[in-house]
Amino acid sequence: AGPLVAIDSLSVDFDTAGGTVHALRDVSLEVQKGRVLGLVGESGCGKSTLAYSLIGLLADNARVVNGAIRMGDRDLAGLNAAGWRDLRGRRIAMIFQDPMTALNPVLNIGRQMIDIQYRESLSKAEKRARAIEFLGQVQIPDPAARLDVYPHQLSGGMRQRVCIAMALLTRPDLLIADEPTTALDATLEMQIVDLLRELQQRFGCAVLFVSHHLGTVAELCDDVAVMYAGEMVEKGSARQIFHHPQHPYTQALLACDPARIGIATRQLPTIPGSLPDLRRPPVGCAFRARCPQAWGRCASDHPPLYVAQTHHGARCHLLNPEEGKT
Ligand code: SF4
Ligand code: MG
Repeated sequence: AGPLVAIDSLSVDFDTAGGTVHALRDVSLEVQKGRVLGLVGESGCGKSTLAYSLIGLLADNARVVNGAIRMGDRDLAGLNAAGWRDLRGRRIAMIFQDPMTALNPVLNIGRQMIDIQYRESLSKAEKRARAIEFLGQVQIPDPAARLDVYPHQLSGGMRQRVCIAMALLTRPDLLIADEPTTALDATLEMQIVDLLRELQQRFGCAVLFVSHHLGTVAELCDDVAVMYAGEMVEKGSARQIFHHPQHPYTQALLACDPARIGIATRQLPTIPGSLPDLRRPPVGCAFRARCPQAWGRCASDHPPLYVAQTHHGARCHLLNPEEGKT
């Protein structure tokens, strides 16, 4: 069986007052059925843009300029609004950094959880029973009593649990989580990550977990993709990425302090220098200005994604077999 979703050479531009921003450039990535894929990188690297393009929620000023997003025999990159409405919350669901993005502040939790089941041919009582069951699945105590409360009456952690329950109610094949724990403290974060892992195993859906938190990704993910300046610079299994990183950017992220790559690491380590201007991406390697290993070729030639090992690749000239490592 092929991947659940195959992103093929996807490029997305944003039209802004300051010019066209090339937010995603030639990104290819596969999401495998039933696996958790972590998408990491500094803020502004394009990871949220990639996540939003997978659920048809790109901003109005965004344009897919090239590439395809294949799911089964469909190309999601070419879907219109009606096509996305059909797919979203059925095959693909999303939980957001801020749970209030997904929750309606003026409707109680029960009503929202019943409404999201509009496709199901169940009675209202059955939908209500399922809502209670799913609140239990996300370990909300006394779930039946929670149906009558409004989002503002819940804590941030409880709200995110409700959002996870609502996403799972639609039985998606792919659950996208865009930094879902960023607003929470470390203890709650750990609880939500454990919960996601448990639910993912129980429901068997694939998860795309967007994070700037390496510790969480190490904890949760089977596969990892590293983005830099709108490009996919390295991808592989979590073991390959954390134990045998190939790209100097990935190496820099991990080398900052390997001992801290536990759940306690709240942030991406800081690497000196800043991201290139994505209105004018560099001709050669996008990481060149910050790369300790850069040489002449890195300024003139744009590195392709070289294969390091089966299922492991990195966009760096050091991996060119012709070049040889020195
Ligand atoms: Fe560094 Fe060159 Fe590799 Fe880019 S291509 S990461 S500049 S060594
Ligand atoms: Mg983001």
